[in-house]
Amino acid sequence: MSGTVLVLNSGSSSLKYQLLQPDTGVSLAHGIVERIGEAASTATLTSGNEEIRRDGGIADHEAALRTAFDLFAEAGQHLDDLGLVAVGHRVVHGGQDLYRPTIVDDALIVKLTELAPLAPLHNPPAVLGIEVARRALPDVPHVAVFDTAFFHDLPAASATYAIDRDLASRWHIRRYGFHGTSHQYVSQQAAQFLETPIESLNQIVLHLGNGASASAIAGGRPVDTSMGLTPMEGLVMGTRSGDVDPGVLVYLWRTAGLGVEEIEAMLNRRSGMYGLSGEIDFRVVHQRIESGDEAAQLAYDVYIHRLRKYIGAYLAIMGHTDVVTFTAGVGENDARVRRDALTALAPLGIELDEHLNESPARGARRISADKSPTTVLVIPTNEELAIARACLTVI
Ligand code: ADP
Repeated sequence: MSGTVLVLNSGSSSLKYQLLQPDTGVSLAHGIVERIGEAASTATLTSGNEEIRRDGGIADHEAALRTAFDLFAEAGQHLDDLGLVAVGHRVVHGGQDLYRPTIVDDALIVKLTELAPLAPLHNPPAVLGIEVARRALPDVPHVAVFDTAFFHDLPAASATYAIDRDLASRWHIRRYGFHGTSHQYVSQQAAQFLETPIESLNQIVLHLGNGASASAIAGGRPVDTSMGLTPMEGLVMGTRSGDVDPGVLVYLWRTAGLGVEEIEAMLNRRSGMYGLSGEIDFRVVHQRIESGDEAAQLAYDVYIHRLRKYIGAYLAIMGHTDVVTFTAGVGENDARVRRDALTALAPLGIELDEHLNESPARGARRISADKSPTTVLVIPTNEELAIARACLTVI
């Protein structure tokens, strides 16, 4: 047995945690602390069929981690008895140089801190989470696993923005890509599901959660992905805009008089499905569409249009795809999104089986028609398991 790994994903006001056994893939417990620092903070932990909850009083990330440990203990998961071999930390941005899973030491903390300007919303909370966890668990190796890692070797044609090359080089501006842990894991699972070597497959992976990204993967290596320098580029997301004309930002600054913080907040937190309809949850969006809500309909139409555009682009880049896989909250659960993303693509070799698509089944499954040259799959992502396994490669 390879022991137990604690995986932490630290956001500015949240901490997600999971205890799992990387060799068996068994998750012992998982949970989230939300609204850290607010009166309405909550912590939940799920272990088997049991859910435990604590409300209020979680002042900072240190308290959040302590609460998580208390909840583990309450659920009978005592870290001391579990053979904890590593703590894996999800880090969104690894910049140019950090891409392999890396054991955390003081020098790495310095490097991660220096990367904050590239990912101001994501990396500082991750560093905070790492520091708090290192203090709480000083005798276990801590490993940073980067969301950008899988896309480190994107072909230059896909990684390069057509902007002034000297400026780009000086400021490390390139397309980094994100959700890499998920795209890699899901593409490997798809190959396993199809019992086909990954080297012989062209794949399109659609990670559709609150954050959303698409990737084109040929022979196991990414050839394009929809996110760029930051996780804002590409698909329409819950609260992020995805692609916009860069001229919009200049116009907002020069003519509308918005400051850089306001523009960033607007693009990150008040755009996407939320910006267009005031709602990020697709279950509610569908209900509102059914009751004739035009804003919800437009948001949905923009979302689907963008998704289809990326699928088409990736088909053109690879020439063909053997498999299209949906994953994450929307991709795994929303049959309408999957149907509308792929409808009328039979001339391009993609045909859904409506019945399979609408089945409430969970778990990895095929949803394409038997006669479809391209297989369409739904595969639950499991970034925590992938992070836990990545930890084992370096400890
Ligand atoms: P995150 O990016 O935060 O990890 P998730 O992958 O958990 O996001 O996806 C969350 C989103 O998934 C929700 O906002 C909601 O839109 C969507 N979702 C979850 N369950 C369903 C469902 N049963 N039907 C449709 N959409 C769902």
